[in-house]
Amino acid sequence: MTQTDPRRRIPRTDQLLASAAAERARARLGEHVVAAVIRTAQQRARRGELEPEAVADEVAAQLAERSATTLRPVLNATGVVVHTNLGRAPLSTAAVEALVAASGYVDVELDLATGSRSRRGLAARAALLAACPAAGDALVVNNGAAALVLATTALAAGKEVVVSRGELIEIGAGFRLPDLIAATGARLREVGTTNRTHLDDYTGALGPQTGCVLKVHTSNYRVQGFTAAVDVGELAQLAGRHGVPLVVDLGSGLLAADPVLPDEPDAAAALNAGADVVTASGDKLLGGPQAGLILGSADTVAALARHPLARAVRADKLTLAALEATVSGPAPPVTAALHADPARLRQRTDALAAAVGAEVVAHDGRVGGGGAPGVPLPGWAVALPVAAAARLRTGEPAVLPRVSGDRCLLDLRCVPESDDERLTAAVRAAVAGPAGEPG
Ligand SMILES: *Cc1c(COP(=O)(O)O)cnc(C)c1O
Repeated sequence: MTQTDPRRRIPRTDQLLASAAAERARARLGEHVVAAVIRTAQQRARRGELEPEAVADEVAAQLAERSATTLRPVLNATGVVVHTNLGRAPLSTAAVEALVAASGYVDVELDLATGSRSRRGLAARAALLAACPAAGDALVVNNGAAALVLATTALAAGKEVVVSRGELIEIGAGFRLPDLIAATGARLREVGTTNRTHLDDYTGALGPQTGCVLKVHTSNYRVQGFTAAVDVGELAQLAGRHGVPLVVDLGSGLLAADPVLPDEPDAAAALNAGADVVTASGDKLLGGPQAGLILGSADTVAALARHPLARAVRADKLTLAALEATVSGPAPPVTAALHADPARLRQRTDALAAAVGAEVVAHDGRVGGGGAPGVPLPGWAVALPVAAAARLRTGEPAVLPRVSGDRCLLDLRCVPESDDERLTAAVRAAVAGPAGEPG
């Protein structure tokens, strides 16, 4: 290195670490992350990719951009309400506030009046029971799969779980009902056929070896044509006569019926029809955080809560707080998207199309992950050339459109109206394309 070597002008690490930009970044980022950003800029300068005089500004810019999480918020323009790859349900403002409130020390397991320990999650339980009075008791666990595993383990380990062949579901991401039940130590006793199962099929399978009867909502497919299934009420009577519990895995998590989804089963109806326990997810149609809901008779829920596995699948304080706020607060975004006013949706779509010079086409949204399979949510989309899709995904804010054939479709159903301006700006940028490259 000579005296004139420009590399000598690269700011030293200790100087950059002491800069105001680094000091500000330390509120969000760990020391090793700050140091890595500095190192990267210095290396680029050494390779000649950056002027030595520009290093400090580059470090400041990079640090200002970095947030504490590298997860990126996405505007969901797919029209799919519960989008598994986008983290399912977006939380309501009330749930977000509850998360923040619960982030420090909280009385999640303490009675402040007496100073003694209390049952965990009482507030979330009370909210669930108020929203679903048909339940005698409620327990919150980590997710829907955990709820089902806890129920079948506690009620049927070493015994048989009687289930229809038409309900042996696989949902995405490694959930296969038969494998999950086998893992609990219960044996699966399949009855009926893929398309038809009758009450007699269940009757023939029940006996001293039965741990529970399980009815599973086929939440992501439909069996159509020559079909038969036994409803919860008939199954409950049969199970009751044999003294075995009936578990209903609802999946989607509607606590009460929703007229927009007339075929989607709900917890209240299943419990009123005689189910001993229903299990469901918190982050599907309920619109809350990832959680598993167990609602049922006081005795059965107590038996599940006492099982050692309950401790392994318990919900954390953040989940409990967000769930309580979702259930007892105003309608969460999932509900708003499902019930979007068609006239307003059309207005917003027209406005976006006009702003970016594109056309509007009819488009059906979907409920998505684990609910109302095959039910269209009629609406509209702004149609762009397919080349816009990648630019939308990688832009700021990131926008996920639906790609269909050679078109990139933007459905506003799941975009909060307050984000319309940001969406319009993102679409304008994507349609214009990167500088020098026509859209
Ligand atoms: C989604 C679903 C599950 C699994 O719930 P997770 O919350 O994803 O663990 C179980 N059963 C049914 C019917 C479902 O739809």
